Amino acid sequence: MQNALQQLRKIPGMLFDESLAKHTTFQVGGPASFFLSSNDVTTISQAVRLARAAELPVASLGGGSNVLVADAGFPGLIIHLDSTRCDVREDGTIDADAGTVLSRVVRTAIGKNFTGIEFAVGIPGSFGGALAGNAGTGGHGIAEYATSVTYLDAQGEVRTCAKADLDVSYRYTRFKYTETDIILSGTLQLTTGSPTEIQARVKEVVERRGWQPKGAWCAGCAFKNPANNHAGKLIDQAGLKGKKIGGAMVSPEHANFIVNTGTATAEDIVILISYVKQQVRDQLGVQLEEEVRYLGFAPSN
Ligand SMILES: Cc1cc2nc3c(=O)[nH]c(=O)nc-3n(C[C@H](O)[C@H](O)[C@H](O)COP(=O)(O)OP(=O)(O)OC[C@H]3O[C@@H](n4cnc5c(N)ncnc54)[C@H](O)[C@@H]3O)c2cc1C
Repeated sequence: MQNALQQLRKIPGMLFDESLAKHTTFQVGGPASFFLSSNDVTTISQAVRLARAAELPVASLGGGSNVLVADAGFPGLIIHLDSTRCDVREDGTIDADAGTVLSRVVRTAIGKNFTGIEFAVGIPGSFGGALAGNAGTGGHGIAEYATSVTYLDAQGEVRTCAKADLDVSYRYTRFKYTETDIILSGTLQLTTGSPTEIQARVKEVVERRGWQPKGAWCAGCAFKNPANNHAGKLIDQAGLKGKKIGGAMVSPEHANFIVNTGTATAEDIVILISYVKQQVRDQLGVQLEEEVRYLGFAPSN
């Protein structure tokens, strides 16, 4: 174990006690004991194997736009893929690395008049993060369009997962909460569309996004929408818009956004999240569930 730790420290590019606040859109959270940003699969695989041998937890981070990192940080290895490949073929197949910014994948598709993922215009983060959490809007998610995903398993082996095994549902795939599998790349299958209709859909999505708080430090929607309902509407009904705990606040513009007003700690945000859940449950009888993923909290979900 000691030997594995020593070797882990020697991996090229490895950072130690790297602040995760600067890698997340909430801008809160403590350091990761080990942080590796790389596009080299062999190096990443080696790091994962060594971390496992040293009995350290491993997690991947894309754009950090859907995570809340504990103030104490993450006592293990964070893998950040900094790959940027995005290949598109004439038949509407898009093959992209997990580290590629999602907006690049979406823009590439639109630029070639391939339709399907216009709903993802404006969603921050990486392609890998979007696949893991089936990011989307308006009843659609990016993973619906995936035909396969290549990932690194707990043993550091490269594997491929076919669509049928992705376990896709609302804001979920089998990769969302796993700390063992790291998506390396994914393939989407789109179809050719009418440029006018594609542009109309993009315009509609951009307009719909207009209500989001601009430039706020947040992780998008804090809660999943319950069946046939909207979390933001329920939180608003419970009178919680503008509710503050420490430096964390329920956005006065959109109740499903919890924002860091500049001084929030992860603890402030967690307490506010649980207060909102309790109030909505007590007042309206609906149990909200977090969309945001916790990192470094025990027990990890
Ligand atoms: C202003 C704003 C607006 C947003 N709007 C939307 C929206 O409209 N719709 C929506 O769905 N989301 C939205 N989000 C949330 C977020 O942008 C998406 O969930 C996004 O897809 C997360 O990608 P990421 O790369 O930032 O993932 P991260 O936050 O880095 O990670 C999220 C989860 O995915 C896992 N993960 C990341 N990369 C990998 C990988 N390579 N392999 C395996 N697991 C991985 C992480 O471990 C973590 O569990 C918004 C966020 C913000 C800040």
